[in-house]
Amino acid sequence: MDPLKIVTCDCGFEAIGTDEDLVEIMQAHELDTHGREVSRDEVLALANPIDPIGGQG
Ligand SMILES: [Zn+2]
Repeated sequence: MDPLKIVTCDCGFEAIGTDEDLVEIMQAHELDTHGREVSRDEVLALANPIDPIGGQG
C-alpha cells in the first residue's frame, strides 16, 4: 500500500493521498484557485508523510 502524505497550500488548503493523488489534487487546486501551474516535482517537494499511528490528542 502506498504511504499517505499531506500537502498544505499557502492558502491553508490541505490535500491527503498518495503521490499520484497529491499531484492531481494540487495541480487542480493551484490552477482553479490560484491560476498557477505547478509541476509534479513542486507538489511532491511540499509533501510530508503522515504518521499512520497518530497518538496525539
Ligand atoms: Zn491554495
